[in-house]
Amino acid sequence: QVRVRFAPSPTGNLHVGGARTALFNYLFARSKGGKFVLRIEDTDLERSTKESEEAVLQDLSWLGLDWDEGPGIGGDYGPYRQSERNSLYKQHAQKLLESGHVYRCFFRMSQYYCELVQHLTIHLEIIPLYLRIRSVCHVSIEELEKMKEIAKLKQLPPDYTGRWATATEEEVQEELAKGTPFTYRFRVPKEGSLKISDLIRGEVSWNLDTLGDFVIMRSNGQPVYNFCVTVDDATMAISHVIRAEEHLPNTLRQALIYKALGFPMPYFAHVSLILAPDRSKLSKRHGATSVGQFREMGYLPQAMVNYLALLGWGDGTENEFFTLEQLVEKFTIERVNKSGAIFDSTKLRWMNGQHLRAIPSEALTKLIGQHWKNTGTLKESDGPIVDEAVQLLKDGIDLITDSDKALTNLFAYPLHATLTSSEGKVVVEDKLSEVSASLIAAYDSGELIGALEEGHAGWQKWVKGFGKSLKRKGKSLFMPLRVLLTGKLHGPDMGASVLLLYKAGKYGVVAPEAG
Ligand code: GLU
Repeated sequence: QVRVRFAPSPTGNLHVGGARTALFNYLFARSKGGKFVLRIEDTDLERSTKESEEAVLQDLSWLGLDWDEGPGIGGDYGPYRQSERNSLYKQHAQKLLESGHVYRCFFRMSQYYCELVQHLTIHLEIIPLYLRIRSVCHVSIEELEKMKEIAKLKQLPPDYTGRWATATEEEVQEELAKGTPFTYRFRVPKEGSLKISDLIRGEVSWNLDTLGDFVIMRSNGQPVYNFCVTVDDATMAISHVIRAEEHLPNTLRQALIYKALGFPMPYFAHVSLILAPDRSKLSKRHGATSVGQFREMGYLPQAMVNYLALLGWGDGTENEFFTLEQLVEKFTIERVNKSGAIFDSTKLRWMNGQHLRAIPSEALTKLIGQHWKNTGTLKESDGPIVDEAVQLLKDGIDLITDSDKALTNLFAYPLHATLTSSEGKVVVEDKLSEVSASLIAAYDSGELIGALEEGHAGWQKWVKGFGKSLKRKGKSLFMPLRVLLTGKLHGPDMGASVLLLYKAGKYGVVAPEAG
């Protein structure tokens, strides 16, 4: 069975890169009828926060990426927070110790300094060398003095490197009896190579001779990150590890641990980086990078999801518009590109417009109406003019937050006020005398209002007649009319705009401040 996981570290907000990793995992699981597991990697106790965990979960939910197992909802492979899985790590470290894949290492950095100092004691009077040791070891003068003392007392073996990999049982027991702290160190084969087959990058291989034995558990009993991930992925029966390319170096250590524990290796898929338009790594200096920021800016989750999917994936056609359901249907890991994908915020904005206009009318009216009410752009979130205003303005906006300005612009020239105020009349007369004189006459006589009362058909009939009486048609009729009635040279459909402005006046909608 396909089981994938998204494993965020709760040390900040969900970045677009993390969101894309989560999305690819989600799509893979859903397209294969598998499970999507959420695991919180909070081993870094100092940097992990509950608030960050909550924010990440909230962002994932907002994107619609629901998980099958994870914190809060549980599952058969829990707990789903690393901080709650300590006993599992200990148990597996013990197992590796017993099988000889891991050894107790009593070597400590401070001991290393001691040895170094001891070696160099005779030269310590030579100041430059003394300073060099300090800079190599990052120790203070006081520490170094102390070590000098210790070094004089102790007779330490000079060959500390790999010393404990080959220590005898007696030597180990002796240190244990003394209560010397120790780490668990993984025994890396001294030669040969390790190869994995990555679903995106193909074959990846490493030479083992330069790796060196690495610590899997610190002397305070804290397991090390790579070890936790491996134990978790293995015991959670993860079948495919889909994650960011930057974790590729970790894969080597993790694969060694997998083998040592005797677990079947999962498939790996390392997704390339998301780059800024200048091809550097996308970061805060390039603008918004977290999912939460985009949400606050008025982006729709469906547009975010669609855009993120296109960062490194495509269905092989020209089509770029996908709903989450369509993505589930089309997604295959083989089509994920191995080169870096460029994050283009202009394209994301455009895509948001596409998704905005794909929302069914009624739902869009509700969404934007509520937004206008929240921002105070309109007093009511529904009513006779909200729907018409939304339908009228939706083609000219990409984000919900664009709609405030669009509405304010529309109302910045209220029909009623312009055609009735003396000031308005003067402006209108001065500007476009022939058309404006007739327009004012039509307004004053009630003819225009009568037509507007009949809605769109009434308007069309009136415009036709109006043009005929002035012997104008096409541009020479519509341009001045548009300027006179809407105050602008361009804009959404004129008839609909005028009808909306008329209604707004009639229903007593308070025109917002001109923006
Ligand atoms: N916790 C890691 C991160 O947030 C993910 C590690 C993994 O996917 O293996 O980058």
